[in-house]
Amino acid sequence: EDYKSVALVVGVTGIVGSSLAQVLALPGTPGGPWKVYGVARRSRPVWFSKNHLEYIQCDVSNTQETISKLSPLTDITHIFYVSWIGSEDCDINATMFKNILNTVIPNAPKLQHICLQTGIKHYFGIFEEGSKVEPHDSPFTEDLPRLDVPNFYHDLEDILYEETSKNNLTWSVHRPALVFGFSPCSLMNIASTLCVYATICKYENKPLVYTGSKASWNCYSDAVDADLIAEHQIWAAVDPKAKNQVLNCNNGDVFKWKHVWKTLAEQFGLEMVGYIEGKQQVSLAELMKDKDLVWDEIVKKHNLAPTKLKDIAAFWFADIAFCSENFLSSMNKNKELGFLGFRDSIKSFNSCIDKMRAYRFIP
Ligand code: NDP
Repeated sequence: EDYKSVALVVGVTGIVGSSLAQVLALPGTPGGPWKVYGVARRSRPVWFSKNHLEYIQCDVSNTQETISKLSPLTDITHIFYVSWIGSEDCDINATMFKNILNTVIPNAPKLQHICLQTGIKHYFGIFEEGSKVEPHDSPFTEDLPRLDVPNFYHDLEDILYEETSKNNLTWSVHRPALVFGFSPCSLMNIASTLCVYATICKYENKPLVYTGSKASWNCYSDAVDADLIAEHQIWAAVDPKAKNQVLNCNNGDVFKWKHVWKTLAEQFGLEMVGYIEGKQQVSLAELMKDKDLVWDEIVKKHNLAPTKLKDIAAFWFADIAFCSENFLSSMNKNKELGFLGFRDSIKSFNSCIDKMRAYRFIP
């Protein structure tokens, strides 16, 4: 086939990687038709088999393995780096990204652009160190200086800037807000986590209890649809106005967790219990800590696609979202540069529920 561009998506089964795989394959996608190579560590999941791409199983933290599996891919024109090791360790995350660049750059003479996904932790610090530093005041803008605390995002950016300038390539850094997506192979998927929580509540005949803080229940929050991030990265990959820019990425609206809770309860036919003044809150991780076997039962009873609770739900991550406030980011720079994409956040959350049902990850 006659392809115009060739993508390497690193982390292709993840929350954004799986959306990139789908959006790149659409007929009208800018820069297309795209040929897609997708990399992940595990073997190709069964649910992922419908995507038209060349799947490469490779542990990119292993230098030798990365060289042997990725150096033959000489036709790559664009890299989309949407991965992390699952810990905030700076060295391992940096090694993964370096292994990709050190392998692809010398072997792919048509390489033009590298999209690097980091996130809004840039503005308030990584989870492990976050409490040690004063976050920036929101709404966050891309020009805010780095916080004085270790963050693997800084290491990834520095590698990106050095390698692209040495090799005359263009780059873009994408800083998404909380992501709404459907992948069960993600280490931080708030939508799948909440769907699984709602499914367990339904199975046990319990109400959908909000476990977070009063502030998070009432304040404005923002999020971003994984498909919109895919569109954002593809725009940056092909549009000259977005070259060599750091860009936030959110849906362009705000919501409150109380709104999500209402829609979640409706979708699963559950009684809803919102934040209750003065009530001692139990974390979601604590509430769900013994539910692995319950989840196995639910998967069996409803004949769902096989998943393990620890893979499809990150209750610790919901606990962080539910005690956060004032983490809004600005999309003004994007609009000035010509990116006008947006989503309605509640519709976006509901579309994740629909996709998870369609893939039979939940009943
Ligand atoms: P996910 O956790 O959803 O996906 C990670 C992907 O990378 C998977 O495909 C995984 O495959 C793959 N992967 C992990 N380790 C390796 C490895 N050693 N070799 C090859 N593939 C590997 O990623 P996210 O999109 O969530 O995270 C990407 C970045 O986005 C991170 O920096 C994160 O902090 C940031 N971010 C995420 C947000 C969110 O809500 N999820 C919000 C804002 C920013 P496998 O499972 O097979 O290992």
